[in-house]
Parts: sequence; structure tokens; C-alpha cells
Amino acid sequence: MELPFIGVFLLLAFGCCLITSDAAPQQKASTCGYNSCTPSKPGVINVHVVPHTHDDVGWLKTVDQYYYGSKTGYQRAGVQYIIDSVIKELLKDPERRFIYVEMAFFSQWWQEQTETKKAAVKQLVEEGRLEFISGGWCMNDEAGTHYNDIIDQMTWGMRFLNDTFGECGRPKIGWQIDPFGHSREQASIFASMGFDGLFFGRIDWVDRTHRKANKEMEMIWTTSNSPGEQSSIFTGIFYDHYSAPSGFCFDVVCRDEPFIDNPRSADYNVVKKVKDLEAHIKAKALSYATSNIMLTMGDDFNYMSADMNFKNMDKMIRYTNELGSGVNLFYSTPSCYVKAINDEAGSRPWPTKTDDFFPYSNDPHAYWTGYFTSRPAYKGTVRKANTFLQSCKQLHSLAGPDSSADGQNLIDSLRRSMGEAQHHDAVAGTEKEHVSQDYRLRLHDSLVDCQQDVGNSFSKILPIGTLELPQQEFCLHLNVSQCSITESSSRFVATIYNPRSHQVTTYVRLPVMNGVYTVLDPDGSELIVQLVPLVNAALRSIETERPKSSATHELVFQASQIPSLGHKTFYIVKTSARNGQHSTVRERQSTTVRTAEAGEKIAVGNGKLSVNFNAAGLIESVVVDGVTVMMSQNLMWYAGMNEGNANSIFDDRPSGAYVFRPNGTDATPISTQATLIVQTGALVSEVYQQFSDWASQVVRVYKGQSDVEIEWTVGPIPVGDGIGKEIVSRVTTQIPSGGRFYTDSNGRQTLLRRRDFRPTWTLNVSEPVAGNYYPINSHIYVTDDQQNAGAVVALVNDRSQGGTSLKDGQIELMVHRRLLYDDHFGVGEPLNEPGDGPGLVVRGTHYLLVNPSLAGNHPVSLIRPLAQQMFMRPWMSFSTTSLSFTNWKNNFRTEKSGLTAPLPDNIHILTLEPWRDGTHLLRLEHIYDVGEHSTLSQPVTLILDDLLADYKITSAVETTLGANQWASETSRLPWNTADKQQQPLKMSTKNSSTKTSVTLLPMEIRTFIIQMTPK
Ligand SMILES: [Zn+2]
Repeated sequence: MELPFIGVFLLLAFGCCLITSDAAPQQKASTCGYNSCTPSKPGVINVHVVPHTHDDVGWLKTVDQYYYGSKTGYQRAGVQYIIDSVIKELLKDPERRFIYVEMAFFSQWWQEQTETKKAAVKQLVEEGRLEFISGGWCMNDEAGTHYNDIIDQMTWGMRFLNDTFGECGRPKIGWQIDPFGHSREQASIFASMGFDGLFFGRIDWVDRTHRKANKEMEMIWTTSNSPGEQSSIFTGIFYDHYSAPSGFCFDVVCRDEPFIDNPRSADYNVVKKVKDLEAHIKAKALSYATSNIMLTMGDDFNYMSADMNFKNMDKMIRYTNELGSGVNLFYSTPSCYVKAINDEAGSRPWPTKTDDFFPYSNDPHAYWTGYFTSRPAYKGTVRKANTFLQSCKQLHSLAGPDSSADGQNLIDSLRRSMGEAQHHDAVAGTEKEHVSQDYRLRLHDSLVDCQQDVGNSFSKILPIGTLELPQQEFCLHLNVSQCSITESSSRFVATIYNPRSHQVTTYVRLPVMNGVYTVLDPDGSELIVQLVPLVNAALRSIETERPKSSATHELVFQASQIPSLGHKTFYIVKTSARNGQHSTVRERQSTTVRTAEAGEKIAVGNGKLSVNFNAAGLIESVVVDGVTVMMSQNLMWYAGMNEGNANSIFDDRPSGAYVFRPNGTDATPISTQATLIVQTGALVSEVYQQFSDWASQVVRVYKGQSDVEIEWTVGPIPVGDGIGKEIVSRVTTQIPSGGRFYTDSNGRQTLLRRRDFRPTWTLNVSEPVAGNYYPINSHIYVTDDQQNAGAVVALVNDRSQGGTSLKDGQIELMVHRRLLYDDHFGVGEPLNEPGDGPGLVVRGTHYLLVNPSLAGNHPVSLIRPLAQQMFMRPWMSFSTTSLSFTNWKNNFRTEKSGLTAPLPDNIHILTLEPWRDGTHLLRLEHIYDVGEHSTLSQPVTLILDDLLADYKITSAVETTLGANQWASETSRLPWNTADKQQQPLKMSTKNSSTKTSVTLLPMEIRTFIIQMTPK
């Protein structure tokens, strides 16, 4: 996209150099934004008429089917027509306003327009008549999303807006009208993006009733524990839904009556309609604190024939102002609404909010907590794809300047697909099956593009001799022990990349054929290896997922101290097993395998930690440093409520894609006993637990590690008995947790939850299981003492899942669900994923952390390192070679860090990516919250200049979190709360005379556009 040249040079926040505006968030004075707002009138109810369309980036139809308007049998919806017709209607009358949200669609439409049309649209944007709200690639889900993904998808959408429209395209408001529950971290992200407000439609129906009665529909949400008020955000909740008031949907897909304003017509209805609307407005105004209310005029995929909407809204405004009393209607936008109430409220104190809006329910039996787990395989893929996207972007930046202008095309593909994946019907798992398949395909194709980009980057970074780097192969199916190169080659090289900002030591498992292996580390030292046989029964359950694999074993070795933002190369040779020496090597590398006798009590451990199994084959205790913690762990299932059990829709609500509604009985173990195969060797001891032909686990304890890895494989879930099933992994201990448990918020902050309790309203427990479920993206734990002296048990997960603690000392995560009925919230299909035919098989990993005594440590300080390890796992690429190790090492770097030195343990590079015109985007984050650790929760100051190993950072200018506005130029509307006067956003950039220093407070993320030159 061509960048308009503004001709302004911006002085750096620090340092000595200049950065041109081409690389910058654009600045331009205009009549857009608050300058374009229609003023409210005193003494009346000011009604902000906000025309909008809600365009799902995939749901009942795929992204493309929605854009082009095909497959009308699923839904009559075509986004290209919506934007076409809205623009035409806006151009007819300068009073009219419209907001648009989803850049996945708008950017595609933009590319198809003529220069004349583009100029007209720019004019509309500059006059505030077309306003972009939120401006992310999609309106992301808030439960199944990780904060890294949310920030990326918002940034990518807002970058399009910044490139295309400059300052007038910059969103000021978060618009999360449809997601099914709202997270504190999402609100925190919006606040850090400099937004002045956040609106949404869905909160618990009891909470809404309470808030309506107390005029608390609008509040100041404190979204972080860190000191400072820049994390607060004004938050407004809709009266009911985001649609037009009943009787006032003038859309082509609606049946409401238009305004019939010929008095001679037998159907003349103006007076009645005005009366109806006035009644609605006055009822609504009772629940809001100022003289302003918002009238959302739109719904899903509305405005395909925008003339119908606007013609009638024009009349609605005109006649209501003429005939009504005490009301003043005008076209407006959410940002103008926020500005109006900010102007009016003055020093009025607003209610505050500190927790979040999970879980969401819209009637006593409809808790939208099933989607926390729905489509678990896709959720896992999305999480892994993020690690790869971050790595792909890091390597692209570290590999040096692009040789062509199209240099980022291969990354853009994954940026877009990951943006789509965060949509509230994508990673949420609430889309139709064919749409889910389309999402997976789009993500897969983009991953392949990014693999090519990584290959290109490695080709620049690794060679040091005369040879070109061989083609890198990426094995996407290592989780099902399939990788053609490791299975078929007798000499290959594995390159392990670590996207974290700290050195990482990890165990590697490669699918191979039986044999004797030599693994050399980058120095040529031979590593201890272990060959672990693949358990046949485990393979059977996933054989349809790995049709091409012939591996019989996994080759396990420890890759130690993989450099930060860097790689290590391991040289692997399979030797023939003919001579006598091999038998001792084979012996050393082998794994002892045996099947436990019936009733035998098994224990596996690593000296520090051991896991004990009872005579039935289930975990009964974990021993840590000699202290035994009694516990049980099992895979269990809830019976999903079926349809047809009651007369009322509330009572008859089945469990479905959105809703989790067990049939009232507690979860039942899949089996009360498991057959065990025990495998022990030099590096890892593991117990394969088979519960049934569709449920198994591997419980692993690696040498030197202080957590237990539980790899679960579940599916196809049998439903032949006509009962949908929802599978959980439940850990039960004796820890007296007093009804309290803790869950993460989008993988970042940790929030206290209390069983059968909501912090700001009274919960009447109508669904004792589903109503206690919360989204888990990283960790859930219980502990017995708030003074950090007692025991803790935690599960760290590898994808988003629902989780809870239904009894003291207990935690559970839902891993898979297969249901036979639709839950009547629109998707129109039961959540019954076929997988490769017989039903989906899913495999995933939990880290089980058990600590009998916190000994003064905050539980989260033990969990964060594990959560980081799980979230940003190193990944591998492979190539075959005929070179000797020495020859390989002479030609290619076998070890390299992108950083001059690993960062402090509490600081992480969240983003390093190529931006534009040779600049890069850098985000640094503090990963500990206030009070989590005596030293790691302290502020940290870094010197940026020498952060990178091969480049000097010559300039760094701070932006807001979304990278679309200079931090120094950010100002937010001030709000007053009952507690304190809020200050406008201030960034705490520090500046020393010669070096660029950056201080990060607990949980703070700071974003910079940087320039770098080779050292
Ligand atoms: Zn939606």
C-alpha cells in the first residue's frame, strides 16, 4: 500500500537520530474524531443513533463466503455489498454516520476500489462520517485467545488503518459487542492502546438486571494491578443486545414496518412509531447515568441495502425530534457518545470494576462456558501457530534487510490467518464444521508460507562457509510422532529455535526407526540419548492422524541452553547395529519396558520428584523432595444435557458449541482403573495409562525437571449410547483451598475466583458446574494459604480450555467435548467433530505442578516459568546431509543467539518483527505482576542500544501498544471515579544522555518502532 507522505520529521524520544514519518504512525489534523461530533443539548435525552453492522469473520459461512455473499442457503450475508451500499448512502448526506469494525473485510474491499472511490471514502473518514471502531483484523474472542494473539490481531488491523487513513483512521473505542464474556486482560490491552472507551453487549443476565436498576451500566474498569491509572478504561454495557430496538430494524433482512409518512395512507404509522421509540428511549434512559444514551442501529450483516436503513433512520430522527418530547436524536458514533458523557459528567464519580465478566449466562441454564473448550484440536493449532509466527517474525528481523519490496509477503499471510483465527467464532469453536475446516486450511497454508520465510532467514543467518544451507523441513506432526526426514534418514541435522528471551533447556523427542543413534551437540560432544518405544496401543488411537509414519521409537535427548532468540544445531547419525560395540551402546540408549502386573503399585521418578500409582493404575501421590502429597488424577466425563427433557426453552437447553450444561450428575471416571506400561531409561521415565480404547495418558518425569508432564489422548468420544460427552482431567488433593481458586486472564494476569460467588452481585446457583467454569489459557491452581506458606497444585495447559475447582483442593480442565444437539444460539449444528471420520482424536499436554510447601514463595512465581515454557516452546526444522559433522560446522553456524545476552528472568521480548521501510517493531514486557516475587516483581531498566547481538539499535520511538500512535502524543479522556481522579495516559520513557534506557513496571508492555544497523 502506498503511504501518503506527510513531510514531517519527528524527533526521537531519545538518542541522536531521526526517523522519517514514512515509518511512523501518521499524524494529521482534521475534522474527524471528537471534532466531528454533533453536540448534545441540555435538558433532554440525547439519543446517539449509531448505525453499525456486525460482520463475523467466519461463522455459519467461511470468511470468503461472507465477503462475497455466496452460499445464501446458510445465511443471506455479503460484506462487499454492505460496504458498497453504506458508502453510497453516506455520500448522500453529511449528517449520516457509520462505524466499521473488521479490517479483515474492509481491507479486502479497499483493495478492489478505484482511486476515485478511495478518495471519496478518505473524505468520509476525514470528516468523521465513516469511523473505524476497534479496528482489529476481527472482533476477537476474549476467552480462547492469548494476549500475544490479541495484541497482534489488533495491531495488524490498526496498521492497515494507519497506513490508509492516517490519524482519522485511528480507533478510539473498543467494540466487543458479540463475544461471550469479557476479560480483564482484553480491557487492559485496549487501555494500553490509548482507547477512551469499551462497549459490549453480553454480560450475565443477573448482573445486567442489577446494573440497570442501579444506573451502573457504565463504569471505570481498573484492568491491572500495576500502579498507575493508565490501565483504567471507561466501559459501557448495552441495554440488551446490539440490534435496533424492537420494531425499528429497517434492514432488508428484517420484517419491521418502515416509516409510512403519507398521512393519507391507510397504513400511516409515524405517530405510533414515534411513540414506541420514545417509550423505548425513556425506559432505557432510566438505566444510564447521563442525559445521553446510545441507540445501536444494526445487527449481523445488516446494511446490504443501506438505502432502506438510512432512508428510514433519517425519518426516525426527523419525526421523533419533531413529534416527540424531551428527546433529541442525531447520527453519532460510539466515540462521540463517550465524548458527550465525558463532557457532561464532569466530576461525577463513576462506579468501578476490578474483576472480569466471566462466565456469561443469558438465562439460568445457559452458561456459555462450553466454548472455552469447543474444537480443542483447532485451539491447539492456533496456539502453536502463534509460537511459529513470533519466531518467523523474529528471524525475519534478525536476518537483515529485505532484498525485495515484497519481503514480508510470506509473513503477512500468517499475520492475516492468525488475525482471522482470533475471531469470536473461530478459536472460540462456535462455527459450523465446514467453516472450521476452512479456518484450518487457511492457517495451514499460511504456516507453510512462514516456513518458507524461516527457511529464507536461516539461509542468511546460518551459512558461514561456501555452501548453501540445505532445504529445511518442518514437521507439523511431531505431536503424533510423525516426521519423514527423521524416520527415513540415517544422517540429518535438527535445528532447534528458541523464541524466548532466555536460554531454554528442553527435551527433544524425534520419531525414528529402531537403531543406535549418535547425537552431537554444536561443540561435537556426544549427548546421552534414549530410545523410547512408541506404545502400540497409543499409536492405534491416533493412527488415522499419522498415516505416513513408520516410526517405531522416539529418540529423546536434552537440548540444553538453547540461546535466547537463537538456535542450536544437533547432528544426528543412525549407525548400523552390526558390530559388538553397538550392543553396549544400544543397551545404554534403551528403555526398559514392562507391563505392570494387575494390582501392582508403580512409581516413577527422577530423584527429586516421583509419581506413585495405586493398585488400580491411577496416580495416588506425588513426592517432592521427600514430602508426599496425596492426590488423585483421572480422566472423567460429564453427560451433556440432551434435548427434549423439559417444556420450557430454559429448562430444555442442551449442551452445545457455546453452552456447557451437564445433565446434573457429577463427572464419571472413564475408567476406575488403567492398565499401565512403564518405560524407564536414562533421561525419562514414563507411565502409559490406558483407560479405554479412546482415552489414554502418558505421565512423564524427565531427569532434572520439577513438574510432571501429562500427555492426554482422547477420542473418538463414543456417542453410540445417544449421550454427548465432555471430558475433563481432574486432579484432587487434600489442600483446604476454602472455595478459592486462581485462573489466568488471556495467559497473562492471574485472577482470584471463588466457587459459587461473583464479586459484585449475588449469584443464585442454577448450574453448579457450568456456572463455576472459567477460561484457562495458561494456568489454574489452588493453594491452602494466602500467606504463601502452604501447598499448591497447579495445571499449566497448552491451549485454551475451560476449568474450575468444584471442591476444595480440586482442579479440573475440560479437554474435549462431543455433543449431539445444537444449543439454539445460532450455529445450528451439534458440536460433533468427525476428525478423519469416526470422531476427532485430540492430544495435548498439561504440566502438573505440585509443591508441598511454598516456603514464602507466591504460587505464581513457581507457575510463570512453566507457563512461559509451555507457551513459547522451541520448535525444530530438519535437513538431511552428507557432510561430516566437522564439514557441517565449518559451513554453518551451529549455535547463535539473536540477543547480546539473555534478558532478565522477568523480561520477555513479546514482539520483534519487521515493520515498514526498514524499521522494526519491538515490544518488551514485564512478565510478573505486582507482589508475585520479591525481586522479579520489581521494575526493570534495560539499555536498548545493545539488546541485539548483530545490530545496534540506532533509534527507538515509543508508541502505544497498537503501534499506531506515538506514546508522547497520546492523551486520553480523563474520568473521575469514586476513589480517585484519573490522569491522562503517561508513558514512563526514561532518557539517559548516551544510551536508550527503558524501565518496565510489573506487567507493563512497552512498544517501540526501532531502526537498527549491523554492528
Ligand atoms: Zn459475532
